[in-house]
Amino acid sequence: MHVCSAEFLQSANRPDSYPPADWPEIAFAGRSNVGKSSLINSLLGRRKLVRTSRTPGRTQLLNFFLVNRAFCLVDLPGYGFARVPAAVRRQWGPMVRIYLETRPTLRGVVWLLDCRRVPNEEDLQLLDWLEELQVPTIPVITKIDKVKRSQRVRQLKPILAATGLPADAFSVFSALSGEGRQEVWERIEEALGL
Ligand code: GDP
Repeated sequence: MHVCSAEFLQSANRPDSYPPADWPEIAFAGRSNVGKSSLINSLLGRRKLVRTSRTPGRTQLLNFFLVNRAFCLVDLPGYGFARVPAAVRRQWGPMVRIYLETRPTLRGVVWLLDCRRVPNEEDLQLLDWLEELQVPTIPVITKIDKVKRSQRVRQLKPILAATGLPADAFSVFSALSGEGRQEVWERIEEALGL
């Protein structure tokens, strides 16, 4: 994918503040600190278009980006962020669930897991929703540079066991080396129908 333009459209917390449903859309979801902003910035070739978790304000909303004036990428709020007040945390479920249920242009969700963490209840809840709502899902394991190549199979076993997904369902990605970037783009293009 050649990214000619990438612009922030708007933040939203409910359907009446989403941008118009004019472009096919891919959303990104995962626990806070999983490397979601780093993945999106790497895909777009922009270092700081998407803010990282150190600026939690905007990360508690859905953030819409228009790419090549052709499709949208949506950064969904990360879950499990310890410094976010309980009241804000409680809004996460409905905010994301309503988006997944109602967005007519949604073509797929990139679902991120950290290679060093066993998926927890919140991760698996999201996977359940994606399966229930039949949203095409692109599972990506992040920060793969943190694991030696010889240790990968062993490291990923608990993730496969917890999710029940086969190894080939996952792409692995490193924002440091760029490994997996091309593969993730290919899967996104396929989901977008490009
Ligand atoms: P977000 O909260 O999911 O948006 O996560 P960020 O993209 O802000 O990343 C959280 C932390 O993990 C930051 O300190 C990043 O530098 C680091 N990080 C993100 N991706 C990678 C990666 O692929 N490899 C390594 N080693 N660190 C990463």
